[in-house]
Amino acid sequence: MEPQYTDLNTPCYFYDMDLLRETLGSISSHASPNGYKVHYALKANSNDRLLRTISQAGFGADCVSGNEIQKALETGFAPADIVFAGVGKADWEIDLALNHDIGFFNCESLPEIEVIAERAALKNKKTRIALRINPEIDAKTHYYITTGIEENKFGINREDLPRVLQTCRELDAVELKGLHVHIGSQITDMDVFKSLCIRVNELQEYFRREHIVIEHINVGGGLGINYEEPQDGPIPDFDSYFKTFREFLHLEPWQQLHFELGRAVTGQCGKLITRVLYVKDGIHTRFAVVDAGMTELIRPALYHAYHKITSPTSQRPEKKYDVVGPICESSDYFGKAIDLPELSRGDVLVIHTAGAYGEVMRSFYNLRDHLKFYYSDDMSRKHKI
Ligand SMILES: *Cc1c(COP(=O)(O)O)cnc(C)c1O
Repeated sequence: MEPQYTDLNTPCYFYDMDLLRETLGSISSHASPNGYKVHYALKANSNDRLLRTISQAGFGADCVSGNEIQKALETGFAPADIVFAGVGKADWEIDLALNHDIGFFNCESLPEIEVIAERAALKNKKTRIALRINPEIDAKTHYYITTGIEENKFGINREDLPRVLQTCRELDAVELKGLHVHIGSQITDMDVFKSLCIRVNELQEYFRREHIVIEHINVGGGLGINYEEPQDGPIPDFDSYFKTFREFLHLEPWQQLHFELGRAVTGQCGKLITRVLYVKDGIHTRFAVVDAGMTELIRPALYHAYHKITSPTSQRPEKKYDVVGPICESSDYFGKAIDLPELSRGDVLVIHTAGAYGEVMRSFYNLRDHLKFYYSDDMSRKHKI
C-alpha cells in the first residue's frame, strides 16, 4: 500500500500501534513463562495512548516522579505494580505514593529511607522498599546515560550497605523487600547484563549472610535497540535478553525477578515526521532545513545520537545533506553529511526510532507550536507508514 505522508501536518509524531502491540507481545511471551514482571519505564514515553496500550498488556509501571505515578494510575496501571525510583523524591511525591499503596519505593540513599519511614509512620502505614545499589558496572554506553559506575548520584554504594541495613532494621514503617540495580541505557552487549547478574548474585550472598530475606530482585532496564537499521527487525531480541538473566542470575523459587524496560518497549514504534522548508547551499555543505527541530527531538543535539532518516517522497538520485532544524542553536540538527534522495521544498522526511526519549523531552523553546500526533489505529490502511 502506498502511504500518504502528504496528508500529515508536520512536524508530528507518528505512532505505529501495531508494532507497539507486537513488541509488548514479544516481551510477554519471553518474560511470562519465567514468571518475570516487567515494569514499563514511563520516562521513555508517557503518551496516554501508548500507556493505555501498555497497561492493557499487563505491564507494571516504573515511575521517577509523582506526576508519573499519577499518570500511571490514570492510564490503568495497578497501584501494586508501580515502582518509584529517583534520587530526589519530594515529600508530596512520597505521600502520593504512600496514599496509593504502590508496590515499591526504590530507595537511593539513607536520608531518603528515613524520610519515607517518617512519612509512612505519620499515616500509620508500613511500606515496602527496595535498595537501589550501585553495582559498579560499566554499561559501556554514552557517558551521560551510564549510571552504574562509581561517583554517580544514583544508588547506594556497597560500603554504605551495613549502615543502611542497620537503619532498615530499626525503622518499623519500612519493610526491606527488594534489591534494585540499573546500570544505564542503550546496552546491546549481553555480556554487560551477564556481569550484572554475577554482581547481583554476589549481593544476594551478602544479604543472605546478613539474614535478610530479599523476595524481589529488580534488575532495571537498559536494553538497547537498533538505531542504525530500524527497518530490519524493529522488535529487539528479547529472547537473548531474558535468557541471559535466566542463565546467569540465581533465583530462589520464592524470589521474583523484575525488569524496568523503557526504550526497548516504545523506541521503534515512534517516528518524527517533518517537511523540508528550504534547501540551502552553503560553501561546503548542503543544508536541508526542516520544520522539526531539537524542540521536538533533542537526542542528536544532547547525545550526538544517530537517527536514521529517510525520504518517502523523493526518488531522485542521492546527494549529501546536513538535516537541520529552525531553532536558534547550532546544535539543532538531525543528521550530518547523510545521503538522501535529492530534496526540494515540501519533501517529507521520516526520522526513525523516535518513540523513546523523543516526545517526552520536547520543549517550547523559541515558543514552538504544540506538536501533532498521529496513531496508526486511527488511519486507514493506505495511510499507514
Ligand atoms: C531510565 C530508567 C529505566 C529505563 O531505561 P531504558 O534504557 O529506557 O530501558 C529503568 N529504570 C530506571 C531506574 C531508570 O532510571
